[in-house]
Amino acid sequence: MSAPQVPAQPTRLPAPEPGWSDTTDVVVVGSGIAGLTTALQLRQTGLHVTVVTKVNIDDGSTRWAQGGIAAVLDPHDSPEAHAADTVKAGVGLCDPAAVDALVTEGPDRVRELIRFGAEFDRNPDGSLMLTREGGHTANRIVHAGGDATGAEVQRALHAAVRRDPWIRLIEHALVVDLLQADDHRVCGLTLHVLGEGTPDGVGAVYARAVVLATGGMGQVYQVTTNPSVSTGDGVAVALRAGATVTDLEFLQFHPTALFLPGGTGQQPLVSEALRGEGALLVDDDGKRFMVGQHELAELAPRDVVAKAINRVMRADDVDHVWLDARHLGSALESRFPTIVASCRAAGIDPVKDLIPVAPAAHYASGGVRTDLRGRTDVAGLYACGEVACTGVHGANRLASNSLLEGLVFARRIATDIAADLPPQPSPAARGGPGAVVDARVRADLQKAMTNGAGVLRSEQSLREVAATLTRLGASRATPDTTTWETSNLVTVATAMTAAAYARQETRGCHWREDFADAADHWRGHLLTRLDPHGTLRITFEEMRS
Ligand SMILES: Cc1cc2nc3c(=O)[nH]c(=O)nc-3n(C[C@H](O)[C@H](O)[C@H](O)COP(=O)(O)OP(=O)(O)OC[C@H]3O[C@@H](n4cnc5c(N)ncnc54)[C@H](O)[C@@H]3O)c2cc1C
Repeated sequence: MSAPQVPAQPTRLPAPEPGWSDTTDVVVVGSGIAGLTTALQLRQTGLHVTVVTKVNIDDGSTRWAQGGIAAVLDPHDSPEAHAADTVKAGVGLCDPAAVDALVTEGPDRVRELIRFGAEFDRNPDGSLMLTREGGHTANRIVHAGGDATGAEVQRALHAAVRRDPWIRLIEHALVVDLLQADDHRVCGLTLHVLGEGTPDGVGAVYARAVVLATGGMGQVYQVTTNPSVSTGDGVAVALRAGATVTDLEFLQFHPTALFLPGGTGQQPLVSEALRGEGALLVDDDGKRFMVGQHELAELAPRDVVAKAINRVMRADDVDHVWLDARHLGSALESRFPTIVASCRAAGIDPVKDLIPVAPAAHYASGGVRTDLRGRTDVAGLYACGEVACTGVHGANRLASNSLLEGLVFARRIATDIAADLPPQPSPAARGGPGAVVDARVRADLQKAMTNGAGVLRSEQSLREVAATLTRLGASRATPDTTTWETSNLVTVATAMTAAAYARQETRGCHWREDFADAADHWRGHLLTRLDPHGTLRITFEEMRS
């Protein structure tokens, strides 16, 4: 497989010996929609669950979701239509069985979320209000508080989890690595807790199964819609445990994040629901540029819109384009209060002004490879939500399918765990090379990834990124929460760069300047593994159907 020279990665992160331990049936890592729904579903099977989460319970991407959750809830819509839209966005790489599970089980999972306490926007007759987003051919997006869907979902799940005394929640808990038995079965994890009392410091949680629900990796880039916890930890942890990750090159850039001069890190999203309601993309001359690019114009799939915006930015030598929502008038404030508030905080009034927008790293379509039951290829290890690659999204995710994926696969994982939970295995001594990277390299890593492995990539740019990562990865430091996290960023960035280099075509959200078109012989997945010596190995697997 064609690959640039990428540096070896640690097969474990150095950490002090655990000073405390805890035992549970299942430990869930992460407290977004995927983690909390998995915990609630596991409780329905009677198991004891511990949820560990890096900062506060509400700090993942889930609470930032604006648009909503896609599900077939209108009698005029159909699972077949939802599947067709999903597969079209995925450009030949979706797993039909995973998509089928998503679209057929999705409506029941949304109803269940309502039973867990989530309140969605409704029409005067009490029916759910459904809207449309980019790439969807029917109105099938449920939303809450106008554009505050994620906040409502997180609120409801948080409350449901707090009501259950059999779910133990440990906040400020950064998972470092997995514990594995002699036969490699996962039997718990090591973590660092910033506690006032116990637990505190490095500890171990022993469990009969572990579910990674650690979300995305947007922080690998300079500008992202993702919060600060989205550093790809789950992918790095899974690689170090010997699991396969896949489709890492398909990192979706949201076409319209609010552009703030000099802004880095998490930036406010300007949801495509705004375009769904009629907002138009225009260049510096006020001219629409999506017409003629795609039959859905401003509502084309995200990669098409992001690429078109990039082309305009390059042609006009500008750092953003504009979104014109002025004609929506006062409806803007009632339907999109979050966007209006973000704009006004930046001195922009979308009722009167054009909104400056530019693409930002948004969603990882790839991740830890799972089967239809959420199992990874390491026994006892599951992955759910954005950290997972279930095969639903293929080369590009359809808008509002990710919250739904978390709901659908959380239930599948809980069912599988309850049906097949072994006695607690004993952990084996851990070996292999391990070192942590200096946290001060983070900004340089993000800059290199944005410049060379961002919306636009080429063999040359990816070689440059690989060289920079080699240099940055060589800086050494003492283990702590910042250096563990930075080491994860380096591992994830390196694996992404190697996959983006290997895939010599343009498909979905992977855009190679030197290979302008999709190629039939690339219809398949790049599988990445970390071997026991710390070398990343990439293989290609053709699509079976
Ligand atoms: C601005 C924005 C808008 C979006 N809008 C939509 C939308 O409208 N519809 C839609 O379907 N999707 C949307 N998405 C995507 C969607 O929100 C995410 O894909 C989804 O919320 C991911 O849920 P999750 O539970 O997998 O991860 P998250 O909600 O990100 O949760 C991950 C959790 O893992 C924890 N964690 C991470 N690393 C560690 C570690 N080492 N140790 C312990 N804990 C760890 C984090 O602290 C966090 O609690 C949006 C995303 C963003 C950023």
